[in-house]
Amino acid sequence: MKIVTTAAEMQALSCRPEHRRVLVPTMGALHAGHVSLVRLARENAGAGGEVAVSIFVNPLQFEPGSDFSRYPRPETADEEVCRAEGVDLIFRPAPNEMYFDDRSTFVEETALSEQLCGRSRPGHFRGVCTVVTKLFHLLAPDAAVFGEKDFQQLAIVRRMVRDLDFPIDILAGPTVREADGLALSSRNQYLSAPERAQAPVIRTALLEAAASHEKSAEKVLVSVRKKIESASLAQIDYAEIVGADDLQPRLTIGPRSLLAVAVFFGRTRLIDNILLE
Ligand code: AMP
Repeated sequence: MKIVTTAAEMQALSCRPEHRRVLVPTMGALHAGHVSLVRLARENAGAGGEVAVSIFVNPLQFEPGSDFSRYPRPETADEEVCRAEGVDLIFRPAPNEMYFDDRSTFVEETALSEQLCGRSRPGHFRGVCTVVTKLFHLLAPDAAVFGEKDFQQLAIVRRMVRDLDFPIDILAGPTVREADGLALSSRNQYLSAPERAQAPVIRTALLEAAASHEKSAEKVLVSVRKKIESASLAQIDYAEIVGADDLQPRLTIGPRSLLAVAVFFGRTRLIDNILLE
């Protein structure tokens, strides 16, 4: 397994990759959700192909006052996870490898990014699009894998790749969960014991909504909010029903309606989603 830490070396190595290269972009603190994406990448790369994992806690996608400095960075454990999964290459640059102090160019998607998490995290998706573009240029992958847990991010990356003609296939992996339904996230380790005990209410609320087969989005959202608020430590950031492709709000539930929520437990913000039809 090769570990590359400078942008120049990474770009030189990517000039003409001889094999199919599949990239899994991450911020590290790797868990079973990331591992499932690495396995999808391996399947797609084929035996002779190359699986690359980027590990970069991207300062541009953290809004001021958020958890950038305390975000976990367990380098050795991450290397071990990658080695055990047969990852061929880790790209793990320092922030000054990725950004000039006087940078003035960004990549911005302007429609899907206005919805859901975009409202509570201004600038977040501009940071995501900018870093993903840079990773695509530096690693020149044939395909890249993203998780459905971050459904909006996946939709925005697909839109960006379409709009800007990146010759890269975007693959999606399903959300990996704890036994009690909580979606795995590097941020789960911030939760206190009582917060962790209540956090599965998010998944329960989403499953109840999907099982209700109710067609009125408003009625479903009332029940979802009530269920989540039954957990004393939960503070809803948003609960919305949108079209899975345009992320625009839907009044009536139909094909590809997505229920997406963001919920604070203390300072920790958790997101999850479910397709209703
Ligand atoms: P992150 O390191 O949180 O930026 O996530 C890197 C990638 O892993 C993103 O494409 C996420 O959507 C994906 N991911 C995060 N959590 C999960 C999960 N529980 N199951 C599947 N994929 C996930």
